[in-house]
Amino acid sequence: MSLIDYFAIHVVPKMYRGKGALHPSETGRLTEAVSCVREYDVNIFFIRKGETLIAIDSGYKNHPGLLKECAKIGVDPAKVSALFLTHADPDHAGGLDIHQENHFNNAVVYLGEIEENYLNNTYHRKKIGPFGLKNSVTIQKGYRVLQDGETVTIGDIKIQALLVPGHTLGHLCYLIDDTMLFTGDSIALNKDGGWCFFDIFNYDSKLNKESLVRLRERLDLSRIRYVFTSHNGYTDDVRKAFMHIDVIPDLKQKGYVFDETAPYDCFAVKG
Ligand SMILES: [Zn+2]
Repeated sequence: MSLIDYFAIHVVPKMYRGKGALHPSETGRLTEAVSCVREYDVNIFFIRKGETLIAIDSGYKNHPGLLKECAKIGVDPAKVSALFLTHADPDHAGGLDIHQENHFNNAVVYLGEIEENYLNNTYHRKKIGPFGLKNSVTIQKGYRVLQDGETVTIGDIKIQALLVPGHTLGHLCYLIDDTMLFTGDSIALNKDGGWCFFDIFNYDSKLNKESLVRLRERLDLSRIRYVFTSHNGYTDDVRKAFMHIDVIPDLKQKGYVFDETAPYDCFAVKG
């Protein structure tokens, strides 16, 4: 197992138990068009419009529950025609890794142009002391890269890529049909609104805060109906989702709990 996978599966869960930092939506239908699968602490989102099915992110490598959870929401991952990665971290892109079975095998994969550097390991994911953590995900060539602001149309679904660097340098948010915003790991959400995503996971938290301010400025918030996050569920209170984006929740503070309603440990196996 690579260092970053070990970090994601064994270190993070222990560090974050009881802090309420991670509260993904349970597998199910969220809105008219959007459903999700929960894998431990993260969501894969599916957007359906007519015959067209697309996905945001692919979850973990070898997650044992993927097909069972997809079946619960009536989704066949082999029918996903386009899959949009917010970024290349193992909890988002792992499901496409070539060293495991890729259940999204008919999807055209899209990711940010800059994010490709993590797949090629021309960028380190994070420096921890003298160690540069490398990304551990390898995906099949043939994916398409998206530039900031670029729009693609799949069936009747319009997807706009918005570069929001900070968590990773090529992290994208996706605005779908001008009404649904998928923020990946840029925003952490609780009952008080949206915050800058947790510092420890970010490549550059200051940059993430600046990127979120820029994102808010370039969006027409009055047209957006829902804001989705990858680790903290979603909200229809769009203004609130941007309320605290210049503040990083301090998980190191003793006794601090970000979201009282979050599971104690998202990685615990359900009995
Ligand atoms: Zn993540």
